[in-house]
Amino acid sequence: MSACINSVVIVGAGQSGLQAASSLRDEGYDGAIYLIGSESGLPYQRPPLSKSYLDSDMAVDELHLEPARWFNETRVELVAGEHVESIDRQGKRLTMTSGRSQAYDHLILATGSRNRALPCMSQPVDGVLSLRSINDAAALKSRLAGARHVVVIGAGFLGLEAAAVAIAQGCHVHVLEATERVMQRAVSASMSAAFQRHHETLGVQFSFDTLVVDIHSRDGRVSEVELNDCSLLPADLVLVAIGVLPNSELGATCGLEVRNGFVVDDLLLTADRSISAIGDCAAFPYAFDDNEIIRLESVQNAVDQARYVAQRMLGNVQRYDQIPIFWSEQGGSRLQMVGVARGADQSVVRGDPEAGAFSVFRYRNERLNCVESLNRPADHMAARRLLQRRLSPSLVQAADVSFDLKSLLATATEVRS
Ligand code: FAD
Repeated sequence: MSACINSVVIVGAGQSGLQAASSLRDEGYDGAIYLIGSESGLPYQRPPLSKSYLDSDMAVDELHLEPARWFNETRVELVAGEHVESIDRQGKRLTMTSGRSQAYDHLILATGSRNRALPCMSQPVDGVLSLRSINDAAALKSRLAGARHVVVIGAGFLGLEAAAVAIAQGCHVHVLEATERVMQRAVSASMSAAFQRHHETLGVQFSFDTLVVDIHSRDGRVSEVELNDCSLLPADLVLVAIGVLPNSELGATCGLEVRNGFVVDDLLLTADRSISAIGDCAAFPYAFDDNEIIRLESVQNAVDQARYVAQRMLGNVQRYDQIPIFWSEQGGSRLQMVGVARGADQSVVRGDPEAGAFSVFRYRNERLNCVESLNRPADHMAARRLLQRRLSPSLVQAADVSFDLKSLLATATEVRS
């Protein structure tokens, strides 16, 4: 650690912010750490909010990433319920909404992302919800208990996870999607088809290539969703799940470059070498794909980038090069992904889609860049090791379930970018 770093300030007390504080201590950093977050209460994990927390009696305590005593024990000062409004880079000081200010030697931006709003909704309607925070999840959970007709807008991970919970609770569930298939942005057509079948078997209805043009209410509560073909769907609960935007407004207050997130280099540093950015809010060069700038929204990315920044600050000079991993649980089916399928031009299926257990190996320029697995954890584990080492099975090898993918780890030629 550079001798002049006596205080690290982390803005955003979510998954990556908490991990950065924890990893700094693990790595031996002894200076002051301030963890400032807009939300009140202890930092918590979000994945259960659309899964186990929604469909069980899971207590809020179980969501907390660390108990209250951890902050005393590790001397991490948690400043909860304070929104950072501006950064003075010259003076190395930031200002919060309350007027409080805090000096830093190094600043870590870990501000995450927020839900996109439904374009046709100019003001809130009772019964139209979104899901990001504990409070959102608590509201959704209590509304689900009395709901009959649930409309989910957006067939991404979050919308589908919530749809699976709602159908299991006996609701009639209709999912609306603007594109032609589920999880279109993230997975192959084969994987989309398998998940659509799975949800339809559970009883979920879908409408694709469909836009919501209006939300109707009766007696102050949502009653119908109007679609672009003029049809009306009855609804007593609507979940808007149409993606997220990075929380990067702070960049404008101090002239940091923002392009779909705070732009960082391969050390996760902004152009200001006293400021790093990590997690959902960071746009970083992807080591496995010609250093194209990408932004990811996942726990593994948040945790790995936080750990990396702590190690870098304590002296590691290697670039950030973790391979992305993602998972989703939808009505008893588990999707695991490794890599990012940017520009994939070939793909091959391993396993049996009809039986609901298969993987899709996706390639760009004959190089493996992403593997999606549905209920095939062994493929996922092998793919993690292959991609980390930039190893590509041939299409024939990948499609042959009798071929041992792990054997390539010992024999195949490595392809370095
Ligand atoms: P966050 O955890 O969102 O934390 C950012 C924090 O910064 C927030 O508390 C925010 O209030 C605060 N903040 C923002 N601006 C300021 C400011 N100016 N001042 C102070 N504080 C600020 N990922 C997976 O990999 N698998 C899953 O199954 C999965 N399921 C999910 C389910 C749900 C319902 C949601 C919402 C997300 C899910 N994710 C999942 C995504 C994952 O939770 C995020 O990628 C992860 O939380 C990102 O961590 P982060 O630290 O970047 O952001």
